[in-house]
Amino acid sequence: MRKSYGEVRAVDGVDLRVSAGSVFGLLGPNGAGKTTIVRTLATLIPPDSGEVRVLGHDVVREARAIRDRIGLTGQYSSVDEELSGRDNLVLLSRLRGFSWGAARRRTGELLATFGLEEAASRLVRTYSGGMRRRLDIASSMIVTPDLMFLDEPTTGLDPHSRNQVWELVRGMVGEGATVLLTTQYLDEADQLADRIAVIDHGQVIADGTPVELKRSVGSSVLRVRLRDAGQRDTAERMLTEALGTAVHTGADRLELTAQVAAEEEATLALAGLSGAGIGLAEYAFGHATLDQVFLALTGHPADGSRAETEEAA
Ligand code: ATP
Repeated sequence: MRKSYGEVRAVDGVDLRVSAGSVFGLLGPNGAGKTTIVRTLATLIPPDSGEVRVLGHDVVREARAIRDRIGLTGQYSSVDEELSGRDNLVLLSRLRGFSWGAARRRTGELLATFGLEEAASRLVRTYSGGMRRRLDIASSMIVTPDLMFLDEPTTGLDPHSRNQVWELVRGMVGEGATVLLTTQYLDEADQLADRIAVIDHGQVIADGTPVELKRSVGSSVLRVRLRDAGQRDTAERMLTEALGTAVHTGADRLELTAQVAAEEEATLALAGLSGAGIGLAEYAFGHATLDQVFLALTGHPADGSRAETEEAA
């Protein structure tokens, strides 16, 4: 599909296939085109060109058939602040055609599932960000959707609320739903998605399982944490010599990371440090993180700092 807004090519030839019953993650920085893809799939905006089918239906010609079977939660809450959580859900159930009795029953079920029973009678404007997000997701699940779009469902949430949302997503998939999730958080895609497409400038620049993406960087990573910052220069020099690659220093200057071609190299490098009396608080050897994958694929980190750099320039 392609979609432009004036001169801006928001989606520039994206070709994706998502299997039923899976969680598919669209991962990319601010402005990559994720929301435009979701809005097109959810039949809110038409593509400029391309063939886009959702649950077997064409998004332009058969939008109605799709709308009855999908749920969508956007980045901004769509619930009414001046109503209670319960009244929001009853209202939306009635709009979906439920009788009063059925609307109340469905509301009760959703309040329980989403942990909102205690707060059910309070006005939504008194809710925390996490509660609002849960109510928002609940309101898009009044009729259990076959396909759920979650557009950055945890942006701005604290770690506890993020975990709660992740559990809800796992619950939906357990019940057979397909989930298309957009996120800027690499760990979120890693935690939830069966497959991930990395989007940058409206194009898919990589596509695979989280493990495949991490492997695609081509090597594994050794990470050590020193006990004494005074030994950092020696440790850095020894690792550079032993591994023959660049060694990166973490923000707190106690952590060193380097790409490693084979596990034996990492073992030898660690033995070298130990032999030289360099104390390690921690060490780990494993696949690259998705952050490192993004950096390797795009040449810039996934936190949107590229956009800021471009603006500054
Ligand atoms: P974010 O995480 O910031 O929402 P995103 O990956 O979802 O980013 P989109 O919102 O799809 O990205 O935006 C893709 C590009 O299209 C951006 O350059 C954005 O400025 C532009 N864009 C999006 N919507 C519009 C619009 N209605 N009019 C003009 N330009 C738009």
